[in-house]
Amino acid sequence: MKKELNTNEFIQIILSICDNVEKEKDYLSELDRATGDGDHGVTMSIGWNAVKEKITTLDDNLTFDKICMQIASSFLSAVGASAGPLYATALMRGGAKLKDLFVINSSHISDFFEAAANGIQDRGKANLGDKTMLDVWLPTAEKIKETSNNTEDIIEILEKGSHAANESMLSTKEMLSKKGRSSKLGERSRGHIDPGAASSALIFRTFHEAIQNL
Ligand SMILES: [Mg+2]
Repeated sequence: MKKELNTNEFIQIILSICDNVEKEKDYLSELDRATGDGDHGVTMSIGWNAVKEKITTLDDNLTFDKICMQIASSFLSAVGASAGPLYATALMRGGAKLKDLFVINSSHISDFFEAAANGIQDRGKANLGDKTMLDVWLPTAEKIKETSNNTEDIIEILEKGSHAANESMLSTKEMLSKKGRSSKLGERSRGHIDPGAASSALIFRTFHEAIQNL
């Protein structure tokens, strides 16, 4: 049972995300080659490497919202298009829910992911079922919220979130793309996992794995 998360622990989780994105970079680009321009792994790697570099220079007395703002802006500076603004918006909108906090609990975590998912929807203008990262973020944030109504254990909450993210990522495989480059493929967009959904599920999976190992 873990009821709280502090900023140092959050930074450890972010660093784990940076490492896992680097490990999965080729797989993410391979997914993107099937329906897009094949750069998703590379752009994610560039973005999270910028985050990793930024994190090592941060003051160690920053609150959650300030940390999120800093890493969002370094992600956005590194990746100006497509996934960059979406992930940056998620971090900024999520972070805004954690204003002036050094320690967060289960309901803060739920608020963080809900705001992040809504931020992705506002920024990307996609709908559920369009075969985008939103198809992972919305159901996962909802599962996290539902679980946080029943337990204060953030490990359990993230475990349920990670499972929901994996399932919803797999569900994008049979969806017809209605957004971005892959939408031009029409029916041929079916049969492939959306790369943004895959990187999003990777983030939720890493969040859960890393929180268990703190
Ligand atoms: Mg691409």
